[in-house]
Formats: sequence, C-alpha cells, structure tokens
Amino acid sequence: MTYRIRPLLLGEAEVPNILDVFWSLSTDRERSSVPILGFLIPDAADGPIVIDCGMCDPKRAMEIHRLGPHTCSADQTLAAQLAQHGVEPAEVKTLILTHLHYDHAGGCAQLPNARILVQRSELMAAAAPMGPAALAIGGKSLFYDRADIAELVDPLWERVELIEGDIALYPGLQCVLYPNTHTPGHQCIYVQTEIGTAAIVGDIARKVDLNIEQAIPPGIYYDLESMRRALADIARRSDRILPTHDWNTLSAATIG
Ligand SMILES: [Zn+2]
Repeated sequence: MTYRIRPLLLGEAEVPNILDVFWSLSTDRERSSVPILGFLIPDAADGPIVIDCGMCDPKRAMEIHRLGPHTCSADQTLAAQLAQHGVEPAEVKTLILTHLHYDHAGGCAQLPNARILVQRSELMAAAAPMGPAALAIGGKSLFYDRADIAELVDPLWERVELIEGDIALYPGLQCVLYPNTHTPGHQCIYVQTEIGTAAIVGDIARKVDLNIEQAIPPGIYYDLESMRRALADIARRSDRILPTHDWNTLSAATIG
C-alpha cells in the first residue's frame, strides 16, 4: 500500500534564524520567512487525511507568540488549499496533529467531520505549559494558543482521539511518538509512498540540511538526548524528510 502526499501552504511567518540551531548558538541574527505547511493524503481507505492545519489567525499569532509578521493570504486558507486538490473540508475524515503549537493546531474547527488524533501527553502538556512566565518570544503559553487548546477540550472533544505511543493507523501509515523533543508529546507520521518512506516530522527537524544532514539539533527542544535520538531515528527510517517550516518541503512533499 502506498499513498500520495500533497503539501498545503497555510501561511507564512517571519522568524529568527536562530530557531534552527542548537541552543541558538549561531552568529546569524537575521530573520527569514518560513512556510507554515500542512499535508494532505487524499486516498486513505476511509477518506482524505490532513496532517497539521495551520494557525487560526495571523494577527493573534503575532500578539501572543511575538515571533514576527505572520500572514495567511486568501489562497492559503485550509479550504482554499484543499480545493486545489479537489477536496472539501467536510470530506476530510482524519486530522492528525504532530503537536499542538499555534501554527499546527489552529484550524481544527475548519474540518467539521474529521476525527482529531493527537498524543495524550501532548494535550496534557499543552494545557499546562512548562515554560517560565515572562519569555520575550513564546509568551507565557510557550507557543501553545490557549484558545486552540480550549477548543479541543470543548467543543471539539467528541472528535478528539488520544493516542498513547506508536500506532499503525492504516497499513503503511504510522504515528510515532518522540517524547520531549520539540514538544513533550510530539509525533511524526511515516507514510509509505512510491519513493519509499516519507516522514512528516513537524518541527523536530526544521531544516533537512542543518538538523538531519549536519546533525545539529534545532533550537527548541525539551530534552537533548531525546532530540538527538529522534533525529537519528528519523534519518534512519526515512527516504524523504518533510519539515513544516522548510521551503524545500513545498516541492519535496508532492509525492505520487
Ligand atoms: Zn511550527
């Protein structure tokens, strides 16, 4: 069984380049525009799958997380991006969230018929984030948007399915938990495709060249050893690695 994958460009954000690099140990003080991506798997057995769904509101993202300008043009909404592939939001049966940061979990309500799959440990961590109260970037909620998390707890709760650990969701489509990496309950989605195993890695890797090929962990992680093991495991298992915020992913994720 192999699947097709399509990238969904759900907005853009201007963020510090030091986010890409271990402990922010970089002399690069510039900011870059990065994509905010989701992914569509159009042909799963019981209907289309979406993986990550972008942010709820670019203005809110800037106010709360203070990372720099965020934009989402009319052709970058979840509905508009799905329409490019002939899929209506109501047709999506499964939404898988790599993690619950504002730029990955802000669009859940826009898929009215999708079950929402997230790791239990991620929802628990998102409800009570572990950061200090006064960070200049990330705010008090450490990139989790309280409104998104509240929505998952209620009114979307009936559609939430909590995963605990690794599961084979469908033949050839697997969710793998990498605890205490970019977030406490971050998962990667491994998808069998015609070019081999594609890894939808969320933000565990931000740039394939830096974080995978040069093995430099990115700047945001909870436990360094867990992060290093995760990056090595992803590199070992995957034929193509698809980070959320790497422009190269836009072409690399059109598979099949
Ligand atoms: Zn992100």
